[in-house]
Amino acid sequence: MFRISYDGPPDVHDALRGPNAYAVMEEAIDAVLANGNRVVLNATISSSNVHRVVELVEYAVKRNLPIKFQPVFDGLAYGKDVRGQVPDRDSFREAVRYLAEEKKKNPLVINSEPNMEYYTAHPAPPFVPCVSGVLYVRIDPQGMLFPCSIMLDDHLKRDAVAEGFAAAFQNMPRVHCTDCMCPQTLEMNYLFDMNLRSLKNLPKLF
Ligand code: SF4
Repeated sequence: MFRISYDGPPDVHDALRGPNAYAVMEEAIDAVLANGNRVVLNATISSSNVHRVVELVEYAVKRNLPIKFQPVFDGLAYGKDVRGQVPDRDSFREAVRYLAEEKKKNPLVINSEPNMEYYTAHPAPPFVPCVSGVLYVRIDPQGMLFPCSIMLDDHLKRDAVAEGFAAAFQNMPRVHCTDCMCPQTLEMNYLFDMNLRSLKNLPKLF
């Protein structure tokens, strides 16, 4: 499966990712599909598209592709400061409520119901136990282990190449975090918490 970032119609996508990025994205989708692989659209809700999620869903329907939504991180995303792109809370909630309703009739919207409920209730969402760094870890191409895809601070990483994977995993520092806004990490925590509604939705995500 290939997850391809999609931010919205050309004016939105190109403004965020650079000139011609939308056309390149479409070429990438076509190439992946032509090779018989699955594509999931990864849509990050930001201040640029929070009022246009209807159009994002329409594009998914037009291409008949599953679409997964996540909020823009309130901080650094792969080294880039994206705080200016964080949508206001009410607009974000309104967008998620629309998506939750859409999901009831549209199987292409693949965030789980608990995930939508979590986002809608944020910043006081239902408690989800975090087992990152204990039952799963993120590994980067250099062999560095991190507790999860969000916790990428240097002081949390372990070197699986130098230490060996098992030792690095066992020595992962514990993080005390309850703010799980990434749908992937959230679903991992639901998975290990045996959340049945999340488990039912899981094949669509992985
Ligand atoms: S972002 Fe989620 S998975 Fe990562 S440490 Fe926080 S609660 Fe755990």
